Order: sequence, then structure tokens, then C-alpha cells
Amino acid sequence: MKLPVYMDNHSTTQVDPQVVDAMIPFFTQHFGNAASRQHRFGWIAEAAVENARKLIAREINADAKEIIFTSGATESNNLALKGIAEAYSMKGKHLITANTEHRSVLDVCSALERSGFRITCLTVDEFGMVSPQSVREAITDETILVSVMMANNEIGTIAPLVEIGKVCLERGILLHTDAAQCIGKIPIDVRLLNIHSMSLSAHKVYGPKGIGALYVRSKNPRVKIIQQMDGGGHEHGLRSGTLNVPAIVGFAEAVRLASEHYGVESARIAALRDRLEEILLSIEGARRNGHPAKRLYNNVNITIPYVHAADLMTALKDDAAFSSGSACSSADLEENKVSHVLSAIGLEDELARCTIRIGLGRFNTEEEVEYAGKKIVTAALRLRDVSPQYQLMTKKKSLPVTALTH
Ligand code: PMP
Repeated sequence: MKLPVYMDNHSTTQVDPQVVDAMIPFFTQHFGNAASRQHRFGWIAEAAVENARKLIAREINADAKEIIFTSGATESNNLALKGIAEAYSMKGKHLITANTEHRSVLDVCSALERSGFRITCLTVDEFGMVSPQSVREAITDETILVSVMMANNEIGTIAPLVEIGKVCLERGILLHTDAAQCIGKIPIDVRLLNIHSMSLSAHKVYGPKGIGALYVRSKNPRVKIIQQMDGGGHEHGLRSGTLNVPAIVGFAEAVRLASEHYGVESARIAALRDRLEEILLSIEGARRNGHPAKRLYNNVNITIPYVHAADLMTALKDDAAFSSGSACSSADLEENKVSHVLSAIGLEDELARCTIRIGLGRFNTEEEVEYAGKKIVTAALRLRDVSPQYQLMTKKKSLPVTALTH
């Protein structure tokens, strides 16, 4: 077993060795520019990109021409929200999203607000669920876009997109979804879900970092997007810049492997997740966050009262790597700032600081889960015992009733 055990797969994943193998020839041998149409190096690179595009499209029931390669889900969310807002601003200037979205959606919405758009940020229930009824009620004649993430990157809650898609279809509103945490984990059918644009990222699914895609519907209706990057007109003019061929090949191989492994892998990881939760929830007062059933199979988000996640991570730095709140959503995590997702589900700041997020993945084993789970429990109990608030609470509990009344 290699220590520390990596358990932060919502943040990023190890690149699968088969993905690395698929990528290498496109650094060394087939290094052409996919836009060089005059020679064989370019043709080979272009063919590889188009194969990758087809494979990724097939995985989500889209057409190849509906896939735009980007640098990842952050860029895809920017392109979709800003590009659609600009393209449809004559129709209306109102967008709807939810307060548990990733920063790459929420910050884009703030930017749009500054440039004259109106944003409705829906609240969620205690499980982090957006209600389709609240989407319906928020729609006005001015609404052009609804953006609801497919699954949350902190608490794993999977949104009721079928119902939200129906609401949007009825009202003729476009639906964008951030599926960064979902490709390769849950089956996605953009037609069935009535999705008009969708962000994907390779590094959450054992692919390389710095590559992702935006799905943009081409018919029924054809979605208009204004490009946010001007230049050579790559990707139908929607995303100029020389394509990162090795990364695109790696992304497609990662998606292919995920779909090959799908059922077996999800069952195996879900069983590991259940075992880890069982171990962690044995701590008195520990509670799970996120929806009990409708959530990603690899997500563990647990609050251990009186035990600050920061202290727990430091204590376990040589044993297990996991995160507090949302380490992957921001590069400038302010000290002591609590996760907006945990606040959105009603967790008080102090409890949010006592919350850890674990994302299990393809390379985790039973042995690792047993090891890390027990280490976390031991360290948590030790930290809790020395917590002044915990001591105060237990003292109060053990005092005779008469003493408490004075
Ligand atoms: N959306 C969600 C839900 C995510 O989890 C992430 C990654 N933390 C992103 C967007 C950003 O993805 P990328 O790193 O590919 O820009």
C-alpha cells in the first residue's frame, strides 16, 4: 500500500496508465497540428481528434460536431454561460442557477450581473437538491438560460435534471449543466435530459488535466453561442487555439475506459464508500452530508463535530489525502472561509469547519479504505478529546443536575 492513500478524486484523479499509453505517440511520433491540412502529420493529428470527438459524443448521445474541445470545465462553463447570455440578450437578460454550483458557474454569473444581466440563485434543500418547482417559479418572460449542475463536487448530490429539463422544454428555455463530476460515472443522454449545453472535464475521470469539452446542441433547437476567444477559428469558431492533440486523445481514452468499466467499477467503489462511511459514522455525533441515495457513488462528505478538518488533515498528512470543504473549486481558499455548499445546505460555520470530503476512485483498494478509515477515526477521537468545546460539553453532561442549575 502506498502512503498517503489518495482519496481526493473529486479534486482530480490519477491518469490511468492506459490513458498515458494512448497519449504518448501523440507527443513523440504524431505531433502534428490538427489544423495543418497540407501534410500527413496534420492529417494523422486531425483523424485522432475526430475519432476522440466521435467517441466522447457517442458516450453522451450527441453528434460529433456538437463537441467543442476546451481546457476543462471552468472554460466550458465560461463559454456556455457568457456565450449564450451574449447570443440571446435580445430575447431576455435573466438567468437562473443554484447556490451550490461550482465557482466557475457562480463567478461567471456574478460577472454577467455586473454587465447588466439579472441572476436568480435558487436555494437548495438540506440534501443539496434543487427543486424543479423552484426552477418553474423562477422563470419569467425574460429568462434565457437555466444552469444546474448534474452532480455536486462536494456533497455528491445528483440533481433532478430529467424534471428540470421538462420544465425548461415546456417554457422554451435553454438548459446548461456542469457535468464535470459525472462523465464516466453516471450515464448521460443529452437528448433524453433535454440538455442544450454541458461542461465536461477529463481530469475527473482518469484523464489528463487541462482538457475538457463543451457540448452544444446543434438541432431542436440549434443553440447559438458567441465565442469568448478570438483567433484562428478552431472548433467552429467557438474556441480558437491549436488543439492539444495528446490531451484530446487521452480524454477520449479515459472516457472509453470508464464506459468499459462502468457497472463493475461503480459497484466496487460504492461498496468501498459504504464501508468507509460505516467506519467514519461510528464516531458519536458524526453525520453524513448530501442526499442519502441520489448521490455520486464515490462521495463521502462527513461532519465530525469538535474536530476541525484542517487539524485532521494535518494529523493524517502521511496517511491519507482528502479535503475539507472544496479544495478543488478555488485556488485562493481563504483561511477559515467555509464552503458555500455546506452553508447552502444549512450547516453552521463551525460544523462546516468540521467537515471532510473524500472522493474514492478506481485505484483505491479495500485495504486502503480499512487503513485510512481507522486512521481517521483514531485521529478524530484524539483531536476531539483535546477540543476545549468538547471538554466543556462532556463536563456539563457529567455534572450532577443540581450543579447545572446554579
Ligand atoms: N465544475 C465542477 C463541478 C468541478 O468539480 C470542477 C473541478 N473541481 C470544475 C467545474 C472545474 O473543472 P476544471 O478543473 O476542468 O476546470
